[in-house]
Amino acid sequence: MTAEHRALADRGAELVELRVDWLSRPPDLNRLITDRPTPVIITCRRASDKGHWKEGEDQRKTLLRAAIVAGVEYVDLEEDVAASIPRYGKTKRIISYHNFDETPLDLDEIHARLSKLDPDVVKIATMANSPNDNIRMLKLVAEAKIPTAGFCMGELGVLSRILTGRYGSPFTYATWSADRTLAPGQLTFDQMRDVFHYDSIDRETKIYGVLGDPIAHSMSPLIHNKAFEKAGLNSVYIPFRVPQDALSLTLDSFSWLDVQGYSVTLPHKEAVLSKVLKGDEATREIGAANTLYRKPNGDWRAANTDYDAAMQSLRLGLESGLQDGTGGHLAGKKVLLLGAGGAARAIGLGIIRAGCGLMISNRTKNRAVELATSLKCQQVPWENRGTVFADILINCTSVGMHPSVDESPFVQNWLREGMLVFDTIYNPEQTLLIKQARDRGCKTVTGIEMFVRQAARQFELFTGLEPPLDIMRETLRQAISPVRLN
Ligand code: NAP
Repeated sequence: MTAEHRALADRGAELVELRVDWLSRPPDLNRLITDRPTPVIITCRRASDKGHWKEGEDQRKTLLRAAIVAGVEYVDLEEDVAASIPRYGKTKRIISYHNFDETPLDLDEIHARLSKLDPDVVKIATMANSPNDNIRMLKLVAEAKIPTAGFCMGELGVLSRILTGRYGSPFTYATWSADRTLAPGQLTFDQMRDVFHYDSIDRETKIYGVLGDPIAHSMSPLIHNKAFEKAGLNSVYIPFRVPQDALSLTLDSFSWLDVQGYSVTLPHKEAVLSKVLKGDEATREIGAANTLYRKPNGDWRAANTDYDAAMQSLRLGLESGLQDGTGGHLAGKKVLLLGAGGAARAIGLGIIRAGCGLMISNRTKNRAVELATSLKCQQVPWENRGTVFADILINCTSVGMHPSVDESPFVQNWLREGMLVFDTIYNPEQTLLIKQARDRGCKTVTGIEMFVRQAARQFELFTGLEPPLDIMRETLRQAISPVRLN
């Protein structure tokens, strides 16, 4: 614990909570706090509070009193013991309440009770069961007269951990490392500092984020926050986990946060359109949006930047073939598109509009027929996909995505030299399809290009500024490479 404490101080932590209940035997307090490299909070949780303390309650209280006598900066005292451990010296009292099941409706009453127990800081940590629980919690923090570290736990609560300081919390909680998560939904110290720039978030910080479910592994926060940082903007981009049936209520309740823009991912890409009526023509035709942004007059607009990004990526691939005579314009090319989901619909429309001949092939035939009918193009049975002639092959299925990296939706010897192969999958970047296409002398475009370009266009819509494309691409590549090695 002392080694980790020192390492955290070296990494820039200004306050460290020592969870002494996690030590395998009762702690030698002096050893832990003598020459401590940062101010500390001494916390010792009982099993009934999801802690690991194995000794009796008397020993626990003795330990907490000893910490106060030794002059540690903070002690954490649960509501029921706060009155029996009096204030002494300079040690500040954090009076805490935890609820691992829910965010109760009577948060104000709980706060009022804790406030009567001589706190310097009130800590309230509750389980979020809906995105709106975060808003109730952050309102409490914003209105509290006593400094209040209030946030929600669980994956649905991540936003409140990142934003609690914006509304006046003296600090937030993060873990030493990803494999040492002490409470559900906790981010690591490095994520809080390096991705979300927690210490720079203030009342002026503009809030953006991505709406989706699941959202924990989204790369969008990483590259958007990097772009904000590069552009010197006081803005933060947050993963908003929003269950399918909660979209409408969440957008209403998030108006309190004054969110300036959203990226939208599965399963909300279609549903957001009914919430925001105004979108550009392509977005309406695709029937799905991946972006909600605000016009200067505050009105919301929907856009589909996947569409533009895919078409830009394709053109880039064609241009790279210009030197050896295999490239050229999109118009007139024959395109075989694998898949019939959301990505296929957006890209298929772009292909048709660019004047290409489009063929759609999908594992589930009726989805292929449906999409081909709506785009007025040809449908190729899945088992025949290797037999048709195409200048361009586009993979819009999830076959080959991490962790199934040894799979490809197209057999290698179906690939022809000079063909352009575009795999929309970006994790990994070098999918089996891309590797095999290169071996067969095909031109290739990876999903990284599309992902970065759809995010870059969002950045442009959000901020009106030129996006730092290269930095965004590099950030994504760096983040993905360790996953690829797993
Ligand atoms: P989606 O709506 O869920 O569609 C998934 C597609 O994959 C369906 O056509 C499905 O076929 C097919 N599929 C899944 N497993 C399959 C298997 N074992 N064999 C054959 N086909 C299979 O998802 P989406 O949003 O369109 O995304 C599809 C892909 O595009 C994903 O890999 C995603 O990473 C990629 N994408 C990339 C970007 C980017 O920016 N680079 C953006 C969006 C999407 P069935 O109809 O038979 O189920």
